[in-house]
Amino acid sequence: VIQCYIAPVYRDKKISGITLVFHDITKLRKLEQMRADFVANASHELRTPLTVIKGYVETLLNGALDDRQVSEKFVTVIDEEADRLKRLVDELLTLSQLESNRQEAEEPVLVLGIITLVAEEMRQRFQEKQIALELNLPGVVPQVKANPDRVKQILVNLLDNALKYTPYGGRVTVGAEEEENFVRICVQDTGMGIPSEDLPRIFERFYRVDKARSRQMGGFGLGLSIVKHMVENMGGSIRVESTLNEGSTFWFTLPKYEAVG
Ligand code: ADP
Repeated sequence: VIQCYIAPVYRDKKISGITLVFHDITKLRKLEQMRADFVANASHELRTPLTVIKGYVETLLNGALDDRQVSEKFVTVIDEEADRLKRLVDELLTLSQLESNRQEAEEPVLVLGIITLVAEEMRQRFQEKQIALELNLPGVVPQVKANPDRVKQILVNLLDNALKYTPYGGRVTVGAEEEENFVRICVQDTGMGIPSEDLPRIFERFYRVDKARSRQMGGFGLGLSIVKHMVENMGGSIRVESTLNEGSTFWFTLPKYEAVG
C-alpha cells in the first residue's frame, strides 16, 4: 500500500513544479489490521462463555432452580465456563505484560534442572495418555541467562501442546544442547503434525489450525504467542518443523550466561 502526498513548489508566486512524497504504509496497515483482528478475536472469545453463563443463569431463575439435579448440572457448566473466562483473562494479561515489558529480570539458570522438574510434574498426565516422555539430555550444559519462571512456563506450554496434539501411545522427547553462544532446547512429538501452510502462522495470537479441536481441549490459540514473546524477551529465538501425521519439533534458544555476562 503506497500513500502519496502532492505539494506544489512555488517560484515568484507561480507554481514551478510539484513535490511527490511516497510512503510505503503496507506495514502500518498490516499492524492496524492485526490490532483490529486481535480485539475482535478477544471479544469473541470473551463473549462465548459469557453467553453460556447468562443462558444457564436465566434458565435457573426461570424455575429450574426448583429441581436440585438440574440445578447442579447447570451450576457445574457455569463453573466450567467461568474457569474458561478466567484462563482467557489470565493469558491476555500475561501477553500484554510481555508485550509492554520487554526486559526480563534475569539470572544464571540451569535448564537441565528445570526440564527435569517440569517432566516430573507432568509425568502423570503423559502416563494417563500412554505417551512416553523421554529426556535426551547431556550430563551438563552451560548456565543460561534467563528468568527461571519464564523458562518453566515455556516448557510447560510446549509439553502441554505436545501432549494435546499427540494421540495415545505416542512419544515426546525433550532434548538440550549447547550451540555456540546459546543453549538450544527441543520438544519433539510423534503427534498429528501441522500442515505446512499453517506453520508460519502458529505463533500468531489466537491462531489455531483446527479451531473446534483446540477449543474442545480448552485452548485459545494464545499459548505459542506467549511462548514466543517469553523466548524473545530473554534474547532467544524459537522455530518449528513439522510433518503432517508424523510429528512436530519446537526448538528454542537461550543465551549462555558467560556469553552475555
Ligand atoms: P492452543 O491453545 O490452541 O493449543 P497454541 O498457541 O498453543 O494454542 O497453539 C496454536 C496452534 O498450533 C494449535 O491450535 C495447534 O493447531 C497447533 N499446535 C501447537 N503445538 C502443536 C503440536 N505439538 N502438534 C500439532 N499442532 C500443534
